[in-house]
Amino acid sequence: MGNRARTGHQDKSSDLHNKFSMLRAQLQILSDSKLLSGIQALNDRERKIRLTVLFYLREIDKRRLYLPLGYNSLFEFCTRHLGYSRSSAYRRIEAARCIGRFPEAAVMLLTGELNLSVLTLISGIITKDNIKDILSQVSGKSYRDAEIAIAMYKPIETKTWDRVKPVSVFEKKTAPDFEIASGIQNFDNGLNVETDSVTQSSGNSLIVETNSVKDAGSGKKSADVTLKQKFKLEFMVDPAFMKKLEKVKSRLSRKYPGGINFEMLFNIIMEEYLERHSPDNKIERRKTRESNKQSLKTTSQDKQNRINNTRNIPAAIRDKVYKRDGGRCTFVGENGKRCNSTWNLEIDHIVPFARGGNNSPGNLRLLCAKHNFMEAARTYGKDFMGKFIKKE
Ligand SMILES: [Zn+2]
Repeated sequence: MGNRARTGHQDKSSDLHNKFSMLRAQLQILSDSKLLSGIQALNDRERKIRLTVLFYLREIDKRRLYLPLGYNSLFEFCTRHLGYSRSSAYRRIEAARCIGRFPEAAVMLLTGELNLSVLTLISGIITKDNIKDILSQVSGKSYRDAEIAIAMYKPIETKTWDRVKPVSVFEKKTAPDFEIASGIQNFDNGLNVETDSVTQSSGNSLIVETNSVKDAGSGKKSADVTLKQKFKLEFMVDPAFMKKLEKVKSRLSRKYPGGINFEMLFNIIMEEYLERHSPDNKIERRKTRESNKQSLKTTSQDKQNRINNTRNIPAAIRDKVYKRDGGRCTFVGENGKRCNSTWNLEIDHIVPFARGGNNSPGNLRLLCAKHNFMEAARTYGKDFMGKFIKKE
């Protein structure tokens, strides 16, 4: 019997395996446009199914059908029984409860004007009185932008002065396997959770972690935990600061493609400042400027030739192009959508340098690394660029 069950399972699994390889083969020969229209249709279907799932969850919630099955909450039912991750269970439950009260949100989920994360974000603050207003504010927005749009609806009481708090943190050598005690609200939404936990528990998030590690530490793992002195900084900034911050991060993105945290960022900025203002360096720079003035007695024609005969674009022209293109990728897709990425920007020769293109601003544009690569592949051929792809 056990054997037969296992064989049955194997049959089923190899059956599925065959189906998947057939699908893969079918997709490989599909034209680009068919592939794109196909995913569009699937996306529409997926939205419908997701919404249906939400209504199911809502009804199951109302009837408390999880109780007879041995789960003490809908959350447990969703994670254990349905196999959702904690964060997606949380989002679905919030959304299910929300669309029960506000059917207009369900319509927007279906049209794609609203996604589950954004609905979860607003679920705690919408009321019959403000729903129209809030929905119109977040319609079509990403989580980040929606968060900004609705910030006025949930002003937080917080200290506006700077705060520096010395803390000791446990650093585990192994990956953390404990769960943060406060549970459901600590789902893995990246940055947003961090801000939430700071405001909600007024900076207690560290203590929560500390306790958990202590629990684990009281067992066999204490040797893996080291104590480290750190400082926790808290300060308020205005939107203009955030804009500047994004700009700096975007400039640094070429150097740090894996992203950069506040500590790294501040270190870079502070070191640059100190370097710039060190008296020794100032003297050195003054000397270089003087000697440059002496040697720069060349005609403007010479200068023009120099500019055009080198693949390296002079800094002044780079800056000009950067400013003209608004510090964003200028690639425009067939559908008229401009990329506008601020990440990994490169200056691209529209007529390639190798084909006689020069360094005049008219022949230059800002592209993100990915679009620059795509354009290069189009110019030089995919086979030529293939060897670069493998290196990536
Ligand atoms: Zn781009």
